[in-house]
Amino acid sequence: MVHHNVCPLCSSEKIFLHFRCIDHLISKEEFAIYKCPACGFEFTQDYPEEDETGRYYESDDYISHSDTSKGFSNKIYHLVRSAMLLKKRGIINKVTGLHKGSLLDIGSGTGHFAGTMKKAGWQVKGIEINEKARDFSISRFGLEVIGPEQISMLEADSFDCITLWHVLEHFHDPFKYASDILRLLKPGGICVIALPNCSSYDAKHYGRFWAAYDVPRHLWHFNPSTFLLFAEKSGLILEKIRTLPLDVFYISLLSERYKGSKISFFTGMAKAKIFAFLSLFNKERSSSVIYILKK
Ligand SMILES: [Zn+2]
Repeated sequence: MVHHNVCPLCSSEKIFLHFRCIDHLISKEEFAIYKCPACGFEFTQDYPEEDETGRYYESDDYISHSDTSKGFSNKIYHLVRSAMLLKKRGIINKVTGLHKGSLLDIGSGTGHFAGTMKKAGWQVKGIEINEKARDFSISRFGLEVIGPEQISMLEADSFDCITLWHVLEHFHDPFKYASDILRLLKPGGICVIALPNCSSYDAKHYGRFWAAYDVPRHLWHFNPSTFLLFAEKSGLILEKIRTLPLDVFYISLLSERYKGSKISFFTGMAKAKIFAFLSLFNKERSSSVIYILKK
């Protein structure tokens, strides 16, 4: 078990138990979320060591799920995924000011985002810990994907853009990845980090049932102010924030299910529309936030 005696972000000793969350997805075990009153950071407490996390991650079913388009729900899933991939590509083109360049996708999973960028003419590399996902992305998209232990072999100052789509919250040592990012980005290069936002309207509404706490897979629960502190400590410059507007629907639907709602689809969708509308006027309270950082 990994236990923190002080805040992992600001080292304050006054950390306290915020609430307990259940791992609804896999183990049904309970984990504590701690909070720091000094900087506001929330983090999972007493979580498994890195080499013991395997059993808290699903089997590789998601690979076959991600590539079959049979059935209504899979068709919807594919439509949403295609829309999200185009949205992400648009964001990368906009924030880098480039239409072709070199890109490293950390936590590349089954390679759909990296594959989309490759198809658009970018030179793409991926880093993925799951061997089956890695093999799938190599055979399906012809990508160059390595394991995280090989990150130190990548050449310094070699990427125009580095992306982490909902992965930093899983890493046992996010500061180590931040220093890798600093080393690997070209001067003036852009890093794009998407994370759930524990200060969002939906997080505050659902509390310990909020699906994006996702213990013990998610270890760090950032919001825009704690992420700014993380960026400053890491030596990255936070340029601006953007949002991923569709995430709130999925998170609200799951959160309703975790709360035991019998009509989770309808209540989740209805509430998500309200959260999405409200966060149009306040990006800092959006369900997930994309941080645009510069070296
Ligand atoms: Zn703190």
